[in-house]
Amino acid sequence: MSRDADFLRELHQRYASLREGRPAEYIPELAKANPDAFAIAVARADGHVECAGDADVTFTLQSISKPFVYGLALERLGREAVRRKVGVEPTGEAFNSIVELEDDVHLPYNPMINSGAIAITGLLHGADPEGAAGQMRDMFAAYLARPIQADGAVVASELATGHRNRAIAHLLRHFNVIGDDIEAVLQLYSRQCSVTLTTRELALMAATLANGGRHPVTGLQAVPQRYVPDILTLMFTCGMYDSAGEWAYSVGLPGKSGVSGGLIAVVPGRMGLAVFSPPLDRWGHSARGVRVMRDLSVAWGLGLFGNSGQPG
Ligand code: GLU
Repeated sequence: MSRDADFLRELHQRYASLREGRPAEYIPELAKANPDAFAIAVARADGHVECAGDADVTFTLQSISKPFVYGLALERLGREAVRRKVGVEPTGEAFNSIVELEDDVHLPYNPMINSGAIAITGLLHGADPEGAAGQMRDMFAAYLARPIQADGAVVASELATGHRNRAIAHLLRHFNVIGDDIEAVLQLYSRQCSVTLTTRELALMAATLANGGRHPVTGLQAVPQRYVPDILTLMFTCGMYDSAGEWAYSVGLPGKSGVSGGLIAVVPGRMGLAVFSPPLDRWGHSARGVRVMRDLSVAWGLGLFGNSGQPG
């Protein structure tokens, strides 16, 4: 076993006993997650993958779908059309905040929070009501290098209880960000969040972004290279919601979390990192995941500007 694989196993051991946080409960189906499930994977831009823990256990993407669907919207609609409806400003608010819609411009601040992501999905749906689901399916299939599946129980659970996202969608309709077909947009959004995958595959999705949008194993271009900087910049500034500053300071990489416990970080040109562990910290990120990413970034010197936030 390589030194890198040994280090991943060491990190897994270091944090397996951490008892911070609980799996997300506001989507009842996610509350059933095993709090001890824990995996780490690193995929290099040449396609080489190393893992520790349960790296072949499947879970749902949740908000990690957001940067990838943002890339699809840029490809389909172009930067200008997307920017007219969704900004690029970080928010000091939680992932499901509504406050920015009451601000003077009445637009979501960025595509990484729920309001912005529902708007992006609404733009894709509005541009091609019949075709949007298929475009998303093909896009995720390119990143996963296989046909995709959504977890129907998670979709149903989110749609039955997602009153807050429904309220966000209605506000987006009120401010003319999306069209009338609110339920169809929410269904499509829940489906993108419920795509299932393993930690190994998640690392390869991150590595695809590290590799200019080209999947390291299949060589397929999952998103045009010219939009990768948009995706990575938004992940860097907004991917971790109201702890984006702390994340940038301690990890120093574009990142994105999901409430099922998945977390990715991208080291441009070099590798994609992924962790899965369902218990969440108070910002809604995997508690073990954030620690693993910080330790990996420091140990391997991955921070984009060097590693800040270290003792001394
Ligand atoms: N499907 C979840 C929601 O919209 C995703 C949130 C997240 O992963 O942060 O509430």
